[in-house]
Amino acid sequence: MTITAITSPAPIKVLIPRLPEAAALLPYLQRIDANRTYSNYGPLNREFVARLSALTGAKGVTLTSNGTTAIELALRSRATPGKRNCLMPSYTFIASAHAVCNAGLTPYLLEVCPDTLALTPEIAEAALAALPEKPAAVLVVSAFGAPPDLPAWAAFEAHHGIPVVFDAAAAVTALSDVGKQPACVSLHATKVLGIGEGGAILTSDTELAERTTAMTGFGFLGAERLATIRGGNYRISEYAAAVGLAALDALPARLQALRDLTDAYSQRLEGKAVRLQRGVGDEWVTMTLNVFVPEADVTGTLERLDAAGIEWRRWWGLGCHRHPAFADVPRADLSGTDKLAARVIGLPFHDNLTDADLDRIAACLN
Ligand SMILES: *Cc1c(COP(=O)(O)O)cnc(C)c1O
Repeated sequence: MTITAITSPAPIKVLIPRLPEAAALLPYLQRIDANRTYSNYGPLNREFVARLSALTGAKGVTLTSNGTTAIELALRSRATPGKRNCLMPSYTFIASAHAVCNAGLTPYLLEVCPDTLALTPEIAEAALAALPEKPAAVLVVSAFGAPPDLPAWAAFEAHHGIPVVFDAAAAVTALSDVGKQPACVSLHATKVLGIGEGGAILTSDTELAERTTAMTGFGFLGAERLATIRGGNYRISEYAAAVGLAALDALPARLQALRDLTDAYSQRLEGKAVRLQRGVGDEWVTMTLNVFVPEADVTGTLERLDAAGIEWRRWWGLGCHRHPAFADVPRADLSGTDKLAARVIGLPFHDNLTDADLDRIAACLN
């Protein structure tokens, strides 16, 4: 028994997040002590907004309590009134479906492109023919941080008159030229720019940003304490903004580390049948690195990972339609998603991994 304990290597975790440490937060916390403003769009919130705007190029930035509420508010402000359905991919994190329902809409689940894992305008257009009426909106999801095709979806909106909102939860560092279609990002601890809990709506439409910002603070638009729009309390505190500012200070080093780790994986996967998402590590980064495993080898691969003590995860499960809470929502044929989702496997990806760990993981992959 002792021998097993000594020889079996330590288990490898799939994700170990890292947020700014106490020393990096201290100067920002001391500013809060001096300001005695703790929430309500205080100076650290305003500086975080300005720096997110500079990072993404989006003129309009609304901070929100999390990524899910960012999507909810963006849909509430953009969906066509009186219409019910929101087109969205079934293959996404379940938060997307919750946000659609919380915005008062009904998810209408669609397939994704098996190559990019993203909804395409062609898939959405094919669905339009099957619907009794025009949908209220389309929610397009960035697959694990890959940049969504912003121009193609802007053209879709212009052509069909159906408002587009992006769930770009993991893509905050992959966005450029954000148009008026809002890109909703998450600042959760497991995302590239993590603050614990938080989110943001990014858009070139500064009037829209003004409205969604008002929605985060009881609908007060302008200086008067008069609710002009229906909203709620979706704000972040000055303490959360402090973490955000410290996380932005550390972002360049983090991006380089994520690129280097992706590169270390892709070297080890050369010549194998498994493959990474296109462009990952070169054009964009992720905190949730996935491999596409050939269908016939999924069971074998997962057994080898389990036997080697390597944690893996289907980050998005098997699609929203497989969750009991959404089992009854309308959908197109999802047989492609059923096949695809089973094959997308998240591998360990964090800054505790050694070269030996990476070798051990790669040895389980064919
Ligand atoms: C993380 C994530 C969300 C939810 O963001 P929270 O900040 O956790 O609410 C929504 N959609 C996708 C695709 C995500 O990856």
